[in-house]
Order: sequence, then structure tokens, then C-alpha cells
Amino acid sequence: MNQVSDRLASLSPSATLAMSQKSAELKAKGCDVINLSVGEPDFYTPDNIKQAAKKAIDENYSFYTPVPGYPALRKAIVEKLKRENNLDYTVDQIVCSNGAKQSVCNTILCLINPGDEVIIPAPFWVSYSEMVKLAGGENVIVNAGQDQDFKITAEQLEKAITPKTKAIILCSPSNPTGAIYSHDELKALADVLAKHEQIMIISDEIYEHINYVGKHESIAQFENVRDRVVIVNGVSKCYAMTGWRLGWIAAPLWVAKAAIKLQGQYTSGPSSISQKAAEIAYTGDQSSVETMRQAFERRRDLIVKLAKEIPGFKVNVPEGAFYLFPDCSSYFGKSYNGKTINSSSDLALFLLEEGLVACVGGDAFASPNNIRMSYATSEDKITEAFRRIKETLAKLK
Ligand code: PMP
Ligand code: GLU
Repeated sequence: MNQVSDRLASLSPSATLAMSQKSAELKAKGCDVINLSVGEPDFYTPDNIKQAAKKAIDENYSFYTPVPGYPALRKAIVEKLKRENNLDYTVDQIVCSNGAKQSVCNTILCLINPGDEVIIPAPFWVSYSEMVKLAGGENVIVNAGQDQDFKITAEQLEKAITPKTKAIILCSPSNPTGAIYSHDELKALADVLAKHEQIMIISDEIYEHINYVGKHESIAQFENVRDRVVIVNGVSKCYAMTGWRLGWIAAPLWVAKAAIKLQGQYTSGPSSISQKAAEIAYTGDQSSVETMRQAFERRRDLIVKLAKEIPGFKVNVPEGAFYLFPDCSSYFGKSYNGKTINSSSDLALFLLEEGLVACVGGDAFASPNNIRMSYATSEDKITEAFRRIKETLAKLK
């Protein structure tokens, strides 16, 4: 029997998690897979943060927490927003959740009615469109190709807006492309959005600190849209805390209140221990953030160099995050052992099965000519992965 709801039946599974799972299964069978699929730092959580968590356990932080998170953590986030982003928020505008993923989903569920349109610049992170579908909204995909550095222009945005547009989801630095909108590019988008008062702006800034070009720019800095921006961020990427599940929004008060109501009915406040750890992440020594950023930058330089040596790959130079998103379409139509590559997902599967390297096909990110490679892994593994990729792709004729 299968009586799964229509809502779930039409939902696609997460391609990033699916590929990572596949690679874990092969590893469990003894295959020496190099995993460039899932986007998570390979670093351990910094020691001062781990100590804070251990202390919280010993001090019996074992009870339900306030639905939006402990006031001390929310205050630490308000201070972070002032210190690092020069943005003024109050504690009651911050809502903490089980990861930035829940923060994005909460926001979409709080804002979107069935039939509302949500503009998503493509390529985009796999989960946005599915969350919009969950809310009954319509995805309006605006394509930003590699030739425009994967960033939409103000003109493209203007054209995509209709009276039904309720929100836009921006992600800078971007997963899956590593593109970063500059101050002026964001301002141009803000100037368009300022003319359309019904549009809310969801600004996913989870890769804020993994930036190779300079200061982080948030669209929330622009006064003409400021009261319509929901910033999404969290500790997963910059403090190497993916498994701790702690994300947050900084939002207009009415959105924050709605998110608290929603979360109060289906998950409650996030883990007490993770919150105590995150509080120290934000208030404690920040040096590990820069150490990890520098390691990611070295890996970025390495992967760009190696990818440029792969015949047929068209390579962009990512400015942030930890993904490379080369165009691999020159391999489409080629075959090996009776298998023909018709899409980037086919290519990802081929690389996994024949080369033992896990990547994610660009189809899931609405960019079917590209393939995503996470370089949040050691330089040795990146080098070996590309040796395998080169050898494996050479089999395709
Ligand atoms: N936004 C983007 C763009 C992401 O890549 C991810 C993946 N981790 C998330 C949000 C969710 O992050 P978290 O692990 O905090 O749920
Ligand atoms: N966001 C990361 C990725 O894109 C983690 C997996 C996920 O949640 O999608 O790979």
C-alpha cells in the first residue's frame, strides 16, 4: 500500500543528499570513493565550540528551549549582525531553527500562498524549488548562464516580476556556482525590487564567510528594501558544524512571529546543546573561520587548475562557497561499454561507478550542462579525484 500525500508524491528527493548517500553505500561495501558530492566542510568543529557543548551537557541544558532559541544566542546573533554586517536587528527578530535548511523552509511556508510566484535565479540550490512546491507556490526560474558568471541582471529580474510575485530567493555566495554578487550588482537588484512592494527577499547567506574576493555584501544593507529582507544564515558552513543543525533567520518582526508560530507546532526550539555551542561560535575566538577560509581558497585554486586540464570542461572561477560548477556538456552523446551519457546526472553516475568519484549532476540545480564538485575536502583527495576523473572521462568515445 502507498497512500503518500499528493504533496509528497510530487516532491523530488534531495539530489545532493542522494548522491552522498550513494557514495556512502559504495564506501561501506569497501569501494574507495572520493566524495565531491555533498557540501560540507571536512574540518572538525573548533575546540572552543566543542568545549561549550560539553559544558552545557554537564550544566544540564537538557530541557526544551524557547521556540526561537535561547535569548543569549539570539543576542549573540544580533551582535554578529552589527559587528560583521553593520545591520541593526533586535533579539525578537531572530528565530533559530534546526539548520539553515529549516530556516529557508520556515520562511517560505510563512510567506507563500498557493499560486504565489517565487523568483529563483538559476542555477540554484536543489531544495529551494521543492520547498516552494511544498508551500503550493509556483517557481519562476530566471536563468543566469556561465557566460554571465551565473548572476542574474536587474533587467532579467524586472522581466520576471508579475503581480503574483511574492518572493525572490537569492543565494550569495552561491551554491552551486560559487558566484558572489558585488555591492553594485546587489544594489541594482534592490532598486528593481524596491519598486514592487509585495515582494519579499529571502537572502540565503550561509556561505558568508567562505568568500575569496573580500567583504560580504548583504542585500539587507539597502534601505529601500531593508524591511522586506529575510536573512538566512547559520553555523553549518563557517564553523564546520553541519551535524549540529543550527540555523537562523533575521527577519521583519511579523515574519519572525509567524516562523515562531509555525516552528512551535512542528519542531519546537532547536537542540539546547547546539544552541550553547553556537553561542560560543558567535561570541568566541573567530580565528578558525579565517583558517578554514584560507584552506578553502587554496583548494579552490587547485581545483580550478585541475579542472582546466580536463579536455572539454568549461570552467568558471568560483569567488566563494566550496563548489566548482564546470560545463561538461561536451561529453553528452559519448559512450562507453554500451552506456551513453545523455545528461550531467548520467555523467555523475558514470564518474561514480567507473571512476569512484562522487559529484552531483547539474540537472538538480536547474543547470543541465554543468556538474557540481564540492572541494570541501583535502588537497590530496582533490588531486586524486581529478586524476581519476581525467582517466575515466578519456574512456568516453
Ligand atoms: N542554504 C544553502 C545554499 C546550502 O547549501 C545549505 C546546505 N547546507 C543550506 C542552506 C542548509 O544549511 P544547514 O546545514 O544549516 O541546514
Ligand atoms: N547544502 C549542502 C549541499 O548542497 C548539503 C546537502 C544539502 O542539504 O543539500 O550539498
